[in-house]
Amino acid sequence: MVRVMVIFGGRSGEHEVSLASARGVIEALEKSGRYEVLPVGITREGRWRVGENALSELEAAARRAIPQAQEPRAPATRDEKLPNGFGDVDVVFPVLHGPYGEDGTVQGLLELAGVPYVGSGVLGSAVSMDKITMKKIFAFHGLPQVNWVGLTREEWECDPEGWIGRIEALLGYPCFVKPSNLGSSVGISKARDAGELRAGLEEAAELDRRIIVEQGLDAREIEVSVLGNEWPEVSLPGEIVVRNRDFYDYRAKYTEGESEIVVPARIPDETTRAIREIARTAFRAVDAAGMARVDFFLERETGRVLLNEINTIPGFTPTSGYARFWAASGLSYEQLLDRLIRHALERHG
Ligand code: ADP
Ligand code: MG
Ligand code: MG
Repeated sequence: MVRVMVIFGGRSGEHEVSLASARGVIEALEKSGRYEVLPVGITREGRWRVGENALSELEAAARRAIPQAQEPRAPATRDEKLPNGFGDVDVVFPVLHGPYGEDGTVQGLLELAGVPYVGSGVLGSAVSMDKITMKKIFAFHGLPQVNWVGLTREEWECDPEGWIGRIEALLGYPCFVKPSNLGSSVGISKARDAGELRAGLEEAAELDRRIIVEQGLDAREIEVSVLGNEWPEVSLPGEIVVRNRDFYDYRAKYTEGESEIVVPARIPDETTRAIREIARTAFRAVDAAGMARVDFFLERETGRVLLNEINTIPGFTPTSGYARFWAASGLSYEQLLDRLIRHALERHG
């Protein structure tokens, strides 16, 4: 039996998403009969809960909480009952999304503990979490992407009029305002005029010290899954189709019926080839490992492919894009978990 510690929850706006992913992973690992699972839940406050009931405890707390995006709280000071530290486990699967989990912090802890873990290391995680840094690396590799402007909360607060003017001159409307370090569309808004731009910048500045503003595209959204370490494989692409919403926001992502994933995406073969090639380059450019989902825009008017982002711990339920793109490519959820655990052990070795 391989002993797998699954870590979930966490102090980010994507806490609930992580619980759903963890449920999928834990159930599949237990069902296989080849893994012994040690669940470790991190509460919204940053407390560690260890043991069989950790997931149901956090799920119950999530049902009670009013869902809202919030900045992660100050670091917690103690671990609760982590049996023998990490000494008892063969591999750790961090199923955490967003800051304090997908961003290299937990990965750093696991490096210090010397335990193998699924997914990207400290560098790949940190680079991919911060959209500003990620886009700079993509630019260095000549990967196609939208025009963007990065600023800090401090810079925004010192000169709001100046920034509105600069963004209008460089990007125009519509544009998208985002906290640089988040996911699940938390804190992202579309601005069609100066008033919306100002409101969007205020909102993003509340959630992150770093803010990115991008030129808004009218585009289809295509995604692929990547799997492996040095020679990663890329799945067939899927398309995200959003209904009744202006863009793929938090509600569209997690409310039944607001969006649909079409697999495989109905796009020309040559577009699929280009997307898979860029995805592989993007994965290696940020030094990702194990897994990642790479997301693209396919501009409606021109057919241009633009790289949007890489997610090093994508949503991971059996019906999430990441798993579905692999299922369409011939790899089941169970096989996917086997592969990820194997890649983690391989990389550690
Ligand atoms: P997250 O990491 O939170 O998923 P994204 O950068 O992927 O953030 O943005 C979330 C969604 O917002 C995208 O899936 C898309 O629907 C919309 N969006 C983001 N940036 C742009 C853009 N530049 N042009 C058009 N739509 C965008
Ligand atoms: Mg993302
Ligand atoms: Mg995204």
